[in-house]
Amino acid sequence: MPVPALDLQQRTFNWSQLTTAEQMALLQRPAQVVQNDVQAIVADILTKVRQQGDAAVLAYTRQFDCPQLDDLRYDSTAIAARVATLDDTSKAAIAQAYDTIRAFHQAQQPQNLQVTTVPGVTCELRYAALDAVGLYIPGGTAVLPSTALMLGVPAQLAGCNRVVLVSPPDTNGELAPALLYAAQLCGITEVYRCGGAQAIAALAYGTDSIAPVRKIFGPGNSFVTAAKQAVAQDPNGAAIDMPAGPSELLVIADAQANPAFVAADLLSQAEHGADSQVLLLATEASFIARVRAQIELQLEQLPRADIARQALANSALIEVESLQQAVAISQAYAPEHLSVQTEQADQLAEQLTLAGSLFIGPYTPEAGGDYATGTNHVLPTYGMAATYGSLGLLDFYRRYTSQKVTRSGLQQLAPAITQLATLEGLDAHARAVTIRLEESS
Ligand code: NAD
Repeated sequence: MPVPALDLQQRTFNWSQLTTAEQMALLQRPAQVVQNDVQAIVADILTKVRQQGDAAVLAYTRQFDCPQLDDLRYDSTAIAARVATLDDTSKAAIAQAYDTIRAFHQAQQPQNLQVTTVPGVTCELRYAALDAVGLYIPGGTAVLPSTALMLGVPAQLAGCNRVVLVSPPDTNGELAPALLYAAQLCGITEVYRCGGAQAIAALAYGTDSIAPVRKIFGPGNSFVTAAKQAVAQDPNGAAIDMPAGPSELLVIADAQANPAFVAADLLSQAEHGADSQVLLLATEASFIARVRAQIELQLEQLPRADIARQALANSALIEVESLQQAVAISQAYAPEHLSVQTEQADQLAEQLTLAGSLFIGPYTPEAGGDYATGTNHVLPTYGMAATYGSLGLLDFYRRYTSQKVTRSGLQQLAPAITQLATLEGLDAHARAVTIRLEESS
């Protein structure tokens, strides 16, 4: 389908001259393309995999990915042979990204804690790594070793007993050497060649060859996302990391910023997909004009220019009265990625609390966080950054508590427990305390 011509002037606005309704419309994410049939298709796939197990997973993988595939498991010999074909430069890049991501996530190790709430009453907060996790690495249109690192490194650091990687194979039944190398660095040995809703179903419900996992991580297309949401709602299914939608970037810039850098950042997110959205909030109209010119110039050199143009048609370049107005807009939008390109960027960033990840200063491209600064690139979208956090090491743990009470500790708490039990009409609760204290010590 031909991509309609893009007129960036038409996507340029002055915030204070818009009505409230127009302002709200500008901050709407592009309508999620919900094909009516996606949920029905996914429900059918989930049912088939539950009924037929491996046979259904294999049949769907042959239908969508590789017609000749006869074995879902990618064994260690095949993985080693594929990895051996990877060039040293790519290996070094993946290894450097592994090191930075590991350093940042290692520092997130949770600490158990113990508190004596009254003498004789000890409460503990403990963390336990999830025993089995599934990592979905999309594979339909791009090879994503970076996503394997973003999911594999925290799973490795948490010490999850079983880490299962699934990804759709290419038409020859293979996964990319770069992806397999990333998996190898993360110590992942259980790898299956399957994708889409059938892979999510296999991870959640298990098949003869793929044992079920407790939690499924990773991005994917609408079939993957719908399947993750369906299994998360099923008590017999699996937990999921977060609903992650199309990529978003908001840039706040003043006249000090470099228009070429800002344009490059906007395009780096626009090229993700036609449903990506990028917003620029700038204090000077002349700066916005320079960014527009840079976008046009840089678009000419991008192989994915058509995708970026479609995303830019959902995007906006907005003149604001002040940086304070920009902060208010950004906080209302709660972007996945937020770039601060102003003179006092650190101070401004202190006020920008509602974002998945912040990129501060001229030498911090958003692409840095996608690959190698060390932060996680799995981030909440669709305004959910107002309540959800970035993926991190804690997502691979579960938190639980314990308590131990001595006789004298129970004596101290008895009046409160028995009175509250009485207030709630739960006599057996009160009795569970008094029966202990009535017994001679
Ligand atoms: P994918 O692995 O998500 O999906 C491929 C699978 O889709 C196929 O294996 C097939 O099983 C299934 N499928 C395709 N057509 C189908 C149909 N008609 N019926 C049923 N199933 C079908 O790969 P993709 O398609 O390239 O999508 C990757 C997605 O992940 C993109 O939307 C991309 O934006 C997103 N992504 C997000 C992030 C993030 O961090 N938020 C990172 C990387 C990628």
